[in-house]
Amino acid sequence: MSGLVANRSRVQSLVPRFSVSSAADLQARMFSCLRALQPSPWDSLFRRRLGRHLQSDEIRKHTVQQHFRTANRLLPAKLVWSALKVVCNGLPTSRRLQEEILPCRLCGSEGGDCMEHLIHCAPLVTFLTSFFPGISCLLGPVFGVHRSLLNQTLSEVELIATVVGHDLLVHCISALHLGGRGALPHELLIARLRAICRKAPRVAALLRHAP
Ligand SMILES: [Zn+2]
Repeated sequence: MSGLVANRSRVQSLVPRFSVSSAADLQARMFSCLRALQPSPWDSLFRRRLGRHLQSDEIRKHTVQQHFRTANRLLPAKLVWSALKVVCNGLPTSRRLQEEILPCRLCGSEGGDCMEHLIHCAPLVTFLTSFFPGISCLLGPVFGVHRSLLNQTLSEVELIATVVGHDLLVHCISALHLGGRGALPHELLIARLRAICRKAPRVAALLRHAP
């Protein structure tokens, strides 16, 4: 009983006027008021994850956050989720799973089954730039890393191409990791791109009007 009283006092000290908010019931009022007090988790998450690849003074976490908001407005949430996985080291690679680092599943290069290699992996980059030539100048160890992490100013086309690239990578790696049916990486990439075009009109329109 004393615990309940203490909790009630604590909540009332945090949000003294929660009972007059507009939500339908007590629980919803409490949730909306307390949720609003929580600090955003994104700043620390992006700082920590991007810190694996960049110096702390190079990290532009507000730019990354804004790119995710824009991508969420332009593209289906599934694609944005894939991009979040890449940025936050969520690819099912052997390095992330703390196993012996295997050869790259796409190109076979030694020790390439890690995010650091996969964002530059030649078959993926070649495939992506053939459909989105606008990102050709944003490749390599500097621009390629910053673009892949959404850590720089990007045009709408560059942002869509990058998010689509991450989604292609996530699905291709997952299919190969879980054991495919003998499909080659290029076949998996083209199959996923077709599926994306069916679900994302912005991507289909970009490819239709590509030079
Ligand atoms: Zn590779």
